Parts: sequence; C-alpha cells; structure tokens
Amino acid sequence: MIDWTKTDNFLAHEWPGSVIDNMDAYLFHECIFPLRELSGVPMTPSPLREGHIRAVGGSRHSLDHGDGPRLSDASDLFIASDKTKVSTVLGHARQIHAIGGFGLYFDTKPSVMIHVDARPTVKRVNGIQIRWLRVDGDYIYEHKDPAMYYAELANQLEKL
Ligand SMILES: [Zn+2]
Repeated sequence: MIDWTKTDNFLAHEWPGSVIDNMDAYLFHECIFPLRELSGVPMTPSPLREGHIRAVGGSRHSLDHGDGPRLSDASDLFIASDKTKVSTVLGHARQIHAIGGFGLYFDTKPSVMIHVDARPTVKRVNGIQIRWLRVDGDYIYEHKDPAMYYAELANQLEKL
C-alpha cells in the first residue's frame, strides 16, 4: 500500500482512475516522492492511464511481462518546460539509486514529461540507472550513444 503521509506534495487522486491500485508502493516511496521532495520541482502525473499502467508488454508500466501478473513500477509525470527545473530534476534522479530508469520527453504536450521507474539492478546496464531522451518520437539512450545524449540534451534544454 502506498503511504500518502510520506509526501507533502502529492495526493492519490492526482493519478487517473484507479491506476495506483496496480502500482508498486516502492516506486512512490523510494523514487517519486524523494525526487519531488529533493528537487523541489512541481510534478503533475499524466492524466492518461497508459502513462502509469498498461496491459501485457515489456514496459515497466505493464501489468504482465508474459509471466503472470505484476505491479507497474513506472509512472510518467509532467514538469515545467524550464531548463533549470528540468536539469535539477535530472540531477536528483541521477542521485536516487532506487530509480532504475529515467526518461526525459521533449516531444510531449503540454510540457516536458519525465518517466520514472524502479527497475531492479539486474534490469539496468552494468547495474547503472538507464537514462534516455525522447525527441520527435526518437529514443536516445545515454549508454548507447553518450555523445548524442548530451548533445541532444543541451540542444533541447537550450530550446526551452
Ligand atoms: Zn513511462
């Protein structure tokens, strides 16, 4: 069960429908709440159900990876399209070990969106948090092409 007394900045009803009934409390307690509190940056959960839970598939949002029911351990949230705020959130995400995957989406409306997940160490790359950008529908992973990741991050921040 998610303990909402652990946050001063979110209310359960900010997540759509009943998605939180199918989401891992660890994601909230160890990833989302600390990221919000430590960064000081306001975050708005996606109003879309698929931004939190999905049916079968390989996503951390999925309720079945093909081997039986599981809880989603991923959530998508909007933050202001502000270069300082985006950079601050990224910096804190890097410091929170429980966050196993962190995506920055520069092609979403109404603003920049972040994906936060609690994938375990064995699902990371060499045990390191996986980070990516999405720009015009394309995914750019830091571990696959670090030069492109940092170049495009700079480019996107500059355009905000
Ligand atoms: Zn996501």
